[in-house]
Amino acid sequence: MTVSRFSRRVLIIIGLGVALPALLLAFIGISLTLRIGRAVEDNTIRYNSYMAQQVAEAFELELLAHLRLSIALAENASQRGEDAAGIRRALEAGSSEFGPAHVVTINELSQFALRVMENEPVVYGGRADGRWFAGIMLHDARGELTGAGGWWFDPGAFLRDHLESVVQDRLPSNPRMYGGFESTRLLSIELLDSTGTRIAAVREPYNRSEGRTSRLEAPFEGYQVRVGVTSSAPAVWTQRFVMLEVAFIGLMGLVILLATIFGLRYTVRQLELAQLKAGFVSNVTHELKTPIALIRLAVETLEMGRFRSPEEGQKFLQTIAREADRLSQLVDNILDFARLESGRATFRLEVIDPGEVVRETLETFRPRLDAEGFKVEVEIPEQLPMIRADGRALSHALLNLLDNAVKYSRQRREIRISAGARDGEVRISVADRGVGIAPGDQEKVFDKFVRLETGLVHDTKGAGLGLSLVNQIVRAHGGRVELVSTPGEGSTFTLVLPVAEEDLTASPGPAAPDAHQPPRARTGS
Ligand code: ADP
Repeated sequence: MTVSRFSRRVLIIIGLGVALPALLLAFIGISLTLRIGRAVEDNTIRYNSYMAQQVAEAFELELLAHLRLSIALAENASQRGEDAAGIRRALEAGSSEFGPAHVVTINELSQFALRVMENEPVVYGGRADGRWFAGIMLHDARGELTGAGGWWFDPGAFLRDHLESVVQDRLPSNPRMYGGFESTRLLSIELLDSTGTRIAAVREPYNRSEGRTSRLEAPFEGYQVRVGVTSSAPAVWTQRFVMLEVAFIGLMGLVILLATIFGLRYTVRQLELAQLKAGFVSNVTHELKTPIALIRLAVETLEMGRFRSPEEGQKFLQTIAREADRLSQLVDNILDFARLESGRATFRLEVIDPGEVVRETLETFRPRLDAEGFKVEVEIPEQLPMIRADGRALSHALLNLLDNAVKYSRQRREIRISAGARDGEVRISVADRGVGIAPGDQEKVFDKFVRLETGLVHDTKGAGLGLSLVNQIVRAHGGRVELVSTPGEGSTFTLVLPVAEEDLTASPGPAAPDAHQPPRARTGS
């Protein structure tokens, strides 16, 4: 029995109504967060480029500051008309950092280039040994150009020695200066030579590839400065937060989707169960009423002596016995089912001969088979390995299989009961030539309260408990139920039970029975 298509559709629409907006929101949340992350990244990269330029310019300013004081002294000396030695002395008095000063004569000036830094014309030029000249023009008292005074210095050493002071004194430290995001305190600044090798650094970068470089100009030609963020920078925290946020939103979306799917499945299952239970109650009521009515009728007939011959009276007695048996099996089923469901069922496991249980059960059931005109084929070997089982419960399971075989057979009234052993397991099969079970239903039939719409179900008696009980009993014994069935041709139910440990060392028993259906069996879950 299933939930109606309409209810299923309504449930699916409700589920989609919850899941789709949740997924849409998750998608919007993820894309917005990613956009924020990307904007921060772009901003950071732009800021890094800008700061790299700032550092490059700051080095030029630093060099100029070193030149300025000495140059003022040198310019005075030049205006006083002092010779090159006098000018050199004045230069060296102004700055001791660069060592011996150098004066370029007016004739030599053409070998040098000129750059204006901060409105100051700076004369510069390079030498093969890697040293660079940096100096400022000198004039005499009449304002005539006399040459330039300055130093041959090692730009790499200058950059290395002045990196700390440049970063501390010459960079803007206001975090709101550019985009307002990073502060110079959280930046990594590296100096690279012409081969890209690092020659000095302030703080380590978090991710070298995100750093931005700026080339320094002459007299620092060939050198580069690379600026990136450190691991404690807000941009890095933002990146981590964005990743966390995306993972969180994605997870929430997934959880909502799974919860909706499982919620839907659970609700459908509960509705199905509620329907099955309702069907069960009406089935059981019918099951109880019919035999009681038949018994009452037979008893009344006998009491009033309304039968023509003793044989006819005997038939009424048989009816009473048969219907009483049916009632007692139904009550047994209901009680066992209730015990198993509540976990109160206990099995008395003993080492028993399965062949004997099958034979005895068949003996009990034989009158019904004969009365219903069944051709019975039995194939139970004399010697079967012992099993550890509760004989009464096993017999109850077999009775249910036999009862079903009778109930679900039509014209071909043939039943085959067989047993055998294989691979440490005993297999007991009940095969019929009845209506069979469609492949899609073969798993379902082991569920409680399930009765298939086979067409026969309205004529046959049952509460939908039999196979569920068989399955539970066999599982409690560490075994399983296998089902091979073809609609219209018949079904074979096989109880598979483990051989008792006591018997495992003994020689293998006879081969297991072959089902008269294809070998791929469905197992009760
Ligand atoms: P019940 O027989 O009381 O309906 P069961 O749990 O024993 O309940 O069986 C569940 C359903 O499985 C039956 O309603 C029937 O549709 C199907 N079934 C069980 N045994 C057979 C069989 N031997 N042949 C065909 N269908 C069967």
